[in-house]
This record gives sequence, C-alpha cells and structure tokens, in this order.
Amino acid sequence: MSETTTYYDSLIKWHPADRSDWPEVSDEQWNSYAWQFRNRINSLADLESKMTLTSDEHAGVLMTGNKLAMGISPQFFSIIDKDDPNCPIRKQVVPRIQESWDDPLEMSDPCGEDSHMPVPGLVHRYPDRVLFLTTDRCASYCRYCTRSRVVSGVSDQKLETQWEQAFSYLEKHTEVRDVLLSGGDPLLLSDNKLDKILTRLRAIPHIQFVRIGSRIPIFLPQRVTPELCEMLKKHHPLFISVHVNHPKELTEEVRTGLSKLADAGIPLGNQSVLLKGVNDDPEVQKALVHKLLMARVRPYYLYQCDLIKGSQHFRTPVEKGLDIIKSLRGFTTGYAIPQFVIDAPGGGGKTPLNPEYLRRLDETVEIQNYEGKVYQYPNPVE
Ligand SMILES: *Cc1c(COP(=O)(O)O)cnc(C)c1O
Repeated sequence: MSETTTYYDSLIKWHPADRSDWPEVSDEQWNSYAWQFRNRINSLADLESKMTLTSDEHAGVLMTGNKLAMGISPQFFSIIDKDDPNCPIRKQVVPRIQESWDDPLEMSDPCGEDSHMPVPGLVHRYPDRVLFLTTDRCASYCRYCTRSRVVSGVSDQKLETQWEQAFSYLEKHTEVRDVLLSGGDPLLLSDNKLDKILTRLRAIPHIQFVRIGSRIPIFLPQRVTPELCEMLKKHHPLFISVHVNHPKELTEEVRTGLSKLADAGIPLGNQSVLLKGVNDDPEVQKALVHKLLMARVRPYYLYQCDLIKGSQHFRTPVEKGLDIIKSLRGFTTGYAIPQFVIDAPGGGGKTPLNPEYLRRLDETVEIQNYEGKVYQYPNPVE
C-alpha cells in the first residue's frame, strides 16, 4: 500500500473520545451535556493543568479576555493531540498570539452583517432568506470565528436581538421564505425556548423552510437528546447545517448524535472553513467528506477563510480551495463534494468558485473532464 493510502486509512477511522484527562468521571457525567458544559476549559490554569502550552499559545490565552473568550468542551478537548503543537484540533480552539496580529485588510465584520440588519439580530442580505442571530454563546469557541465581534460576549460590541421586532419584520416581509437560525449556537438554547422560536416562525405562512446552523453536534454531542429530537421533529421541514473541519472531529459520540438527528428526519449538511494546517490538504478533505457521508451528512459549503481580525495565520491562497475541489470532482461521489465559496468582503454574499472545466463556449462547447481529457458538445442554436 502507498503512503497516502495509509494516511487516509488512519483518518477515516472512528474513535471514541479519549477520557484519560477525566479518570474520575462516570459515564453518566461524561454523557451529560450539563456536565460537559460546566466543565469547559476556559482559563489558563485549567488548560495548563491538562497540557503544556507553547509560548504562542500561552500568550494567546492571556489576551482572550476582551477579544474572543476561550472555551473548550471536554468532548472536543479529548481529541487534541497534546504532544503535537500542530494538531489540527488544537489549532481550532486553543488561542495563539497570532490572533492579536494586525492586518490592515482584516475587519471586525468581514461579511458586512451589521450594515444589512433591518432589525438588530436579523440579517437580510439575500432576496428570499434571512439570518437570525439567536444567541451570542457557543459550546466552544472557534479561533477563526467570523462573528467574534459579538460572539462569546467579551468584546465591546453586544448582540442585542430584538425578538418582537424581528418576528413582526418576518410577518410583514412576505418575500422571506427561508429563515436560518444561527448565532452563537441556537442549540445552546433550552428545548423550551427553541420550541417557542420555531413555533412562532412556523405560524408565519410564507416561511417555507427553516434551518439551524450549529456546531453543538460536534462540540457537545451529548446535547442531542431524544427530547431535543422530538421537539425539532414537530417543526419540519427543518434542516441542520453542522460545522466539521477535520475527520478526527467525527468521533463515535458525534456519530451517535448525528444519527439521532438524521433519524428524526432532519437533513444534515456540513459547512467547513478552509484553514491552514488544519484541512488544507486533499487527503484530509477526502477523508472528511467520506466520513461525513457515512454519518449521513452532505458536504454543503467549503468556505475560504473570512477576513476576520486575527485570522491571517489561518488563511490559504484561493488556489488551494480550487485544487481541493479538483481533487474530489470525478474522483469521488458527487454527493461528497461541497461548493467552494468566498463570502464576498463587505457584504457581497456567498460567491461560488469552481475549477475551470469549460474551455470554449460558442457553436461548439469544449470541455475538459476530471482526467484532463478534452471533449466537444455541439451547442444547440436558438
Ligand atoms: C449564508 C447566509 C444565508 C444562507 O445562504 P445559503 O446560500 O442559502 O445557504 C442567508 N443569509 C445570510 C446573511 C448568510 O450569510
């Protein structure tokens, strides 16, 4: 077997969380989302009691007080390789000093959300759908968070969602047929609160489609309880988009949580962010998308990293994303291939980028297939 096959084989395996940092903890505690949430690692002392930090990480944790808080669930922490400063899981959640580096091209609101808010908490940028920010908290904090200006609640700007105003805006705007609940992480809200929000949205006749963007099934899969699934099921058609960047994040616990959601009839998609040293590798991406399909999750978007402040060390050249898509298309299942997009800086919206398969477009269309072979298709004349 070739070396790359061996690497893929190691990435595609399913493992349970490694609980060795919590030897005293019972199964019941580990499997309780309240325990997982209470025991999040959110201080330097806590983190240092469990692993040796690099000097970049040590300095990074010290500056989280007024930027983006640190928070790592035991479940997610358990898959970090503590002996490897370049561990792709570690890079996503352990702060580093590079987050404080200034890049004049970077912004605090890279997707121009604040300027597209008709009501605080409601972003209406596309003709027929809205983004509804329901909370500013997450189960763990991604260091490249595109919404770090409000998420985690430690920076100056606060999320102040105006619930009643938002609902009445949606009632009046009959062109809105799709509502995307995000935040923060909507699945951190109680079943009761979420049920009320969904019931209110479902009472609006022109809203056809509701979806939730959440990383809870990855950070806190214990939150996916039978009660949550029963509640969500009442509000179909409901989709969920999760956020997985690396195949190692798909543990046995995560697979169990995702399968409960899928069994509740919820179509699942994945949005991942292309991150340097995390998943900017065709072999990692191939294992990721294959593992997602095994968990009944359809890869949806692969995002070029937004120009969020302090993310320079995560950004890859755009060609990297195109190469990854090229390495997948034709070589693997069509369902496994996400759409690569740039969320256009300043609020232009998600813009697809595709490798070039079209070579000529006139009376004959000349196309190049995934193997690089050229074909002609006679273009029908109108
Ligand atoms: C991403 C996003 C949506 C949803 O876009 P889709 O391409 O339909 O997934 C809607 N509104 C805003 C503001 C968004 O950023």
